Amino acid sequence: MSDFESFKELQKKQKAYQLVLGIASWDSNTEAPKACFPYRSEMLSIISGEHFSLQTSDEYKKLVNGLYENMEDLSDIQKKEVRKAKKELDKVDKIPKKDVVEYSKLVNMSQREWEEAKEEGDYEKFKPYLEKIIRFKKKIAKYRNPDEHPYNVLLDDFEEEMTIEKYDEFFTTVKEELVPFVKKILAVKEDKTPSFITANYPKDKQKQFVEYLMDVFGFDYNKGLLKESVHPFTWNTHSQDVRFTVRYMENYVFSSIFAAIHELGHALYEQQIDDMFDMTNLKSGASMGIHESQSRFYENMIGRSRMFWEAHYPKLQSMFSPQLKNVSLDDFYRGINRVDETFIRVEADELTYPLHILIRYEIERMIFEDEADVDDLPEIWNKKMKQYLNLEVENHAEGILQDVHWSAGMMGYFPTYALGSAYSAQIYYAMLKQLDFDELVRNNDIQTINKWLQQNIHCFGKSLTPKEILKRVTGEEFNPKYYVQYLKEKYSELYLNDKE
Ligand SMILES: [Zn+2]
Repeated sequence: MSDFESFKELQKKQKAYQLVLGIASWDSNTEAPKACFPYRSEMLSIISGEHFSLQTSDEYKKLVNGLYENMEDLSDIQKKEVRKAKKELDKVDKIPKKDVVEYSKLVNMSQREWEEAKEEGDYEKFKPYLEKIIRFKKKIAKYRNPDEHPYNVLLDDFEEEMTIEKYDEFFTTVKEELVPFVKKILAVKEDKTPSFITANYPKDKQKQFVEYLMDVFGFDYNKGLLKESVHPFTWNTHSQDVRFTVRYMENYVFSSIFAAIHELGHALYEQQIDDMFDMTNLKSGASMGIHESQSRFYENMIGRSRMFWEAHYPKLQSMFSPQLKNVSLDDFYRGINRVDETFIRVEADELTYPLHILIRYEIERMIFEDEADVDDLPEIWNKKMKQYLNLEVENHAEGILQDVHWSAGMMGYFPTYALGSAYSAQIYYAMLKQLDFDELVRNNDIQTINKWLQQNIHCFGKSLTPKEILKRVTGEEFNPKYYVQYLKEKYSELYLNDKE
């Protein structure tokens, strides 16, 4: 057996463990009864331990490092597999085992403390954990790459090749172009939420409508399924098994509709990856940012467009006649694109959303530049909320404590959310040059759009980097001006047309 074949055999064994752990975690997040967890956690920790040993065994390390040094006889795809394996190996292998153990304990504790602290709005309670996590993240980044800025090491984990320098450029554009624009829109927005938005929509009918949407978007039931969970998410082991969830809120039907379209975007991406990658480590979406670009594309560019509802509003209206019979398509379209200041990131609309991410990016950057002490973080947070969204934070639960990410050690993650939206706009303008997007959406021909995305983005899985994908599909490097252009065009038309 060649070294490469031996490497593949060991990877296959790891994949078998990943499949089992993955299915268990899907079940934990959807249907598992509450009482099962103590037993389950203990059993799964054994499987995880075995998996970790496989990932770091001497035999595996030797093969990966050896192949990495001698790649000349490998094919292009094989080279990519080895490079990817080497990168993953370095992530776990360069950190002393005692630090790995201590860190994982810390994160477990910290998440529990964060939950309580958030409930009580008590930052002081979470502060000591946050401080330790930050110290740990800096230490781990040093182990992994002593010559690199620690925040760059973390940013690269969530979006390959993204750096402080590139994000600075992006967020400067957001700050200079979008912050003043958002202020202008907020000054003329309607104050009252239209009543059809918060009316009661029976759950079973919501579910029927989500199933209708799955057909509209061409979800392949042979390769996936839909369930319910508290937080909507998409899960997959490979291109032939892609599942997603939604949550039905009776007094907020648009939560389930747009979460479903968002998750459908993630799911279609995974279902459309070429199955030749199933047995490789390139089998999933290219990156967090590219994945989010696809979910946002389906949710916002398609799902929140007027053309989409020209095709599907009659169906929705007939299913929910008491709630919608007196709501015109125009009012409906404005209602689902309503802009408002919110404290909470996950409740923010498409336009104000990037400002929530801007705040988090600026704070993370300060943390890793040693410019902000944990004592001062709430004050910094609140100041930025005032500056960008004109809101006075009165409860830390609605401020610095609202997100789970920092308590879980996920620093460097937030920027990919805004990046995904920005990628989606750049991809959208590239698509407009080749497809009659408006007509396709209006005529319910989503298949043609799916096919375009498959050929240009989805089919490659992880075999191309985010940078390579963008270049291939748009002919350019990442350029945030498209995002600004998209938001300005859409929201000027919605809010400023008759006023300018
Ligand atoms: Zn998403």
